Amino acid sequence: MGTSPVTAIINGKTITAQPGMTIMQAAQANGIKIPSLCFHPALASSGACRVCLVEVEKNPKLLPACTTPLTEGMVISTHSSKAVAARKFVVEMILIRHPLDCFSCESNGRCDLQDLAYELGIEKSPFQEKGSVCTDYALDDTNPFYIRDMNKCVLCGRCVRACDWQSGYHAIDFQFRGIKTTINPPVGRKLEESDCVFCGQCVQACPVGALTEKKAVGQGRPWQSRTVRTTCAYCGVGCQLDLHVKGDKIVRVTGTEDGMPNKGRLCVKGRFGYDFIYSDDRITRPLIRVRKGEHKSPDDEFREASWDEALDLVSSRFREVIEKHGPDAVGGVSCARSINEDSYSMQKLFRMVFKSNNIDHCARV
Ligand code: SF4
Ligand code: SF4
Ligand code: SF4
Repeated sequence: MGTSPVTAIINGKTITAQPGMTIMQAAQANGIKIPSLCFHPALASSGACRVCLVEVEKNPKLLPACTTPLTEGMVISTHSSKAVAARKFVVEMILIRHPLDCFSCESNGRCDLQDLAYELGIEKSPFQEKGSVCTDYALDDTNPFYIRDMNKCVLCGRCVRACDWQSGYHAIDFQFRGIKTTINPPVGRKLEESDCVFCGQCVQACPVGALTEKKAVGQGRPWQSRTVRTTCAYCGVGCQLDLHVKGDKIVRVTGTEDGMPNKGRLCVKGRFGYDFIYSDDRITRPLIRVRKGEHKSPDDEFREASWDEALDLVSSRFREVIEKHGPDAVGGVSCARSINEDSYSMQKLFRMVFKSNNIDHCARV
């Protein structure tokens, strides 16, 4: 593979792309959208859905844009009548087994299949025979985190690849053949008995309503919420999150696809563990212990204080102890929920200000 940029023509526009890019990647890098159900920029392409078929000059067959390398001088048409007809046929085939309950579907407004059908002017599949509607899989909502509705699965395999490549578990895969093909944990096992750790990466990767966060059900449509980017507070990895907020309430959490260090990935805590924010048990102001005797005792009480008062007390107590017993009498353990920068600042405080090397981190092994 050469190192010089590759030049090609897509829809009459001359583009340049990095060597090794597929037609899909080159198109995206140049702001040209090629529809797809199975393509996801963070996952290896599989060419599973055939929605991204494009016409390439001098090629008798349509080529899948997501797996075909862009080569020098290619002339590509993403929306020629031949490509659009093929795409329409593929979507109509997918719709043979897909329920058309978009009104009540939780993914209404963020569903790639819905967008495709709209773009291609498809109301329903012409191949659906009377009386042979869809599949009839039971809804799997036995776990507390997400619901699986295999009737809505388009078999794009994004969940399988997300579980395998992004999460590293391979807890699910394709099973059975033909119209009966589904995505499942190992045969005969429930999800809870599989290797699944409920990170929800598969849910984030799913382009349709086959996988849905349980807590998001009935919490509003995507256009009713705004996205707030933040850092997960659970551990020092500091994953970047997108909070989907309706009014003042978080209704869903997804990993920020272009954010480091996690690049869209989250663990079960970061994705699903946001209920604590609304807990009445949360301590939102500093508390100062009021001793009932000379030593710490269960009878002690806590009174609310301002941040200034609490921080003044902490600094005066440090000063007192150091003056009386020397810097080795104090030590600090930083918390795994702190970000790296805070842990760094804390060790600086101990080493440079208190002159003590008694500093550690609770996650150190
Ligand atoms: S929740 Fe995570 S581990 Fe479980 S199937 Fe989905 S991606 Fe795999
Ligand atoms: S569950 Fe979703 S992501 Fe997985 S194959 Fe089906 S449609 Fe694709
Ligand atoms: S708790 Fe999970 S999601 Fe949050 S920062 Fe740590 S690894 Fe990332």
